Amino acid sequence: MAILVCGGAGYIGSHTVHALLERGEKVVIVDNLQTGHLEAVNPAAIFYMGDIRSDATLEKIFTENQIEAVIHFAANSLVGESVQNPLKYFNNNVGGMQVLLEAMVKFGVDKIVFSSTAATYGEPEKIPISETDATNPTNPYGESKLIMEKIMRWVSRANDIRFVSLRYFNAAGALESGEIGEDHTPETHLIPLILQVPLGKRDHITIFGDDYPTPDGTCLRDYVHVMDLAEAHILALNYLRNGGSSEIFNLGSGRGFSVKEIINAAEKVTGRKIKTEIGTRRVGDPAQLIASADKATKILSWTPKFSSVEKIIADAWNWHKNHPAGYKS
Ligand code: UDP
Repeated sequence: MAILVCGGAGYIGSHTVHALLERGEKVVIVDNLQTGHLEAVNPAAIFYMGDIRSDATLEKIFTENQIEAVIHFAANSLVGESVQNPLKYFNNNVGGMQVLLEAMVKFGVDKIVFSSTAATYGEPEKIPISETDATNPTNPYGESKLIMEKIMRWVSRANDIRFVSLRYFNAAGALESGEIGEDHTPETHLIPLILQVPLGKRDHITIFGDDYPTPDGTCLRDYVHVMDLAEAHILALNYLRNGGSSEIFNLGSGRGFSVKEIINAAEKVTGRKIKTEIGTRRVGDPAQLIASADKATKILSWTPKFSSVEKIIADAWNWHKNHPAGYKS
């Protein structure tokens, strides 16, 4: 039996595939390579280049392989783009989930681990954020992921399917060996953008607002190492294998770091001075996003191993300095 990883050529997907293969799991990947990279596809996995919105593609995969469970990463994930083009997000993210679940029902595959996001909460009602807190997404990306969770919830009640939804906070870092890492076009995330300064690809990093009600005036985020996220998917898979019921879990370290603290840590890790400029606030950015991951610790026995931001940035730096142009390097 194999694990089908939808979006296994993407950032978190490729790192999870690596962790699955290390555990001796058989892995089948489907990815349309719209944002994923062929170079990130692990050669030890069976790879289908295709779109999960195509029922014919899924039919072929489910017929040719004995799929035990699905781990689903295949989605668009740029907040700004989702505001500009919401229909792209509802078509690809929501539409993909629908076709995928239809195929799972048809082929009797009853377990799915889903890549969700803290963006489902929107402006938090309290810090740290718990899974029971209100979900009011402030952009179509977060809304699409929340709808996908709701679709899974209804389907799990009607059909014999159980799901785990993992709401990540700020994913960062790379595989320690530096073989795979983060490569987005356009890049919008703080840590890779900061590292473009010492790489000579960017003159400075703009800090999006220093007038927030936080200790140094810049936003606090909860950064979590991508390999800790990968580990959580394996724990979630085993939880479902052991009969666990459908659940939603936050994945974060429970600690907030400010934009300025991350820049300081990046200077320490790279040994270079990083030039900064203060810009205006980015629309829709909450002052703080910090997870309570107590539920994942209690039920999945998940605790982040790489909890220092220096380690997260050091692994990201190891990837970026050896791949300054990403996978094209
Ligand atoms: N940020 C920034 N400058 C940038 C990119 C991001 O100051 O060029 C800030 C952003 O406002 C947020 C934090 O860095 O407070 C993390 O942003 P990112 O886009 O990495 O993740 P998000 O929290 O939006 O998911």
